[in-house]
Amino acid sequence: MNEREYLVSKGLAKPGRGRFSAAAKAELVRARAAGIKIGESVQSTEKVVLEIPAETWPNHRAVTADGTEVSMKNACFSCSVSLSWCECGNPRALSRTGGYQEVSIVPL
Ligand SMILES: [Zn+2]
Repeated sequence: MNEREYLVSKGLAKPGRGRFSAAAKAELVRARAAGIKIGESVQSTEKVVLEIPAETWPNHRAVTADGTEVSMKNACFSCSVSLSWCECGNPRALSRTGGYQEVSIVPL
């Protein structure tokens, strides 16, 4: 049981996210002092999913040096942002023939 689960069971916190109240923190201290095993809260590592706005590169496509057409939704190998959003100045993506290559973002 983690901190939140424990506090929820005591009616001192709500499931989900959010800060604990002073009373809730005091209860954690009290409970641990009483020998109740409560795990540490784990920081959320949820990734923020970036929505790719279609208008970022309207009517553009990505092509690697050897002519491989790459989806603009693919991640740029240099900066790990989707090619639609890449602003690293050195966009690279997996090509058909030879690993990661420079990508040109060209108008349709
Ligand atoms: Zn990039």
